[in-house]
Amino acid sequence: MSDKNHQCDALVFKCMDWRTESSGALRQELRSALGIKDFDTISVAGGAKSILDEATRKTMMSYIDLSFRLHHIKRVVLINHTECGAYGDSGTEEKLVFDLREAKKTLESHFSGLKIQLVLMRLIDKNQEWHIALEHVLDKDPDAVAV
Ligand SMILES: [Zn+2]
Repeated sequence: MSDKNHQCDALVFKCMDWRTESSGALRQELRSALGIKDFDTISVAGGAKSILDEATRKTMMSYIDLSFRLHHIKRVVLINHTECGAYGDSGTEEKLVFDLREAKKTLESHFSGLKIQLVLMRLIDKNQEWHIALEHVLDKDPDAVAV
């Protein structure tokens, strides 16, 4: 059996929250915004939080490693979303973005050669249907003073 049949573009790492996928738009958005056709998915409470949390980090790394070895992914799309229950009141957009950036550093220290893209997903309630809007997050805060 050829390995090539089992390759995919990326791994999408995100929260398990059903609202992130309820509109069915995630796949379309990933394709149009990031050019990703096929992807593995890891859905776990809190998204990037689970990479930073010492209690779950090792398990998350083993899952990502499996995607890397089995499906030869070239990049990881790390998504945090607004209104995340795992973050609760602490889940401000600033905190969600901060954690995405910190989680990227963690991933880069574990995996070399993997491109990490950061995405903030906004959940939008439209007449009791959840829609999503994806926003690229830069690796660093552009407003931060350069050292
Ligand atoms: Zn969540």
